[in-house]
Amino acid sequence: MNEQDVLCEEHKIWTVSSLQQRIESRRQCAYCGKPVAVNQSHCPHCREVVPKVRLGPAPMPASKGSQVRRGFLYMILGLVIHYVAVRSDSLNLPFSINPTVSYLSTMLFLGGVGLALYGLLAKVTA
Ligand SMILES: [Zn+2]
Repeated sequence: MNEQDVLCEEHKIWTVSSLQQRIESRRQCAYCGKPVAVNQSHCPHCREVVPKVRLGPAPMPASKGSQVRRGFLYMILGLVIHYVAVRSDSLNLPFSINPTVSYLSTMLFLGGVGLALYGLLAKVTA
């Protein structure tokens, strides 16, 4: 066994973290296959543009506006259900409405108010 074999054996035993570090610090050029540093946007060997590769998860899109919108939709839904539940006698519905429905629709409305306020607050403080 000569020195070259020993060196190869050593290089075979990469821990996961060192392998990850190698992947993060160097990547392959898509055109010539040679390693390119991460901070370089052009391959030093063939001068082709190397696209940026993101290894981590994609950043979460801003969803504060959708929270406000969802809060208002919950409020409207709660109001409609509450209106139907309270006026069920005069609306001549073919079915009876449980009295707990008006209580639950109030909770839905208040939940919508809370969600809309939270969305607005998150939007203002962000
Ligand atoms: Zn290249």
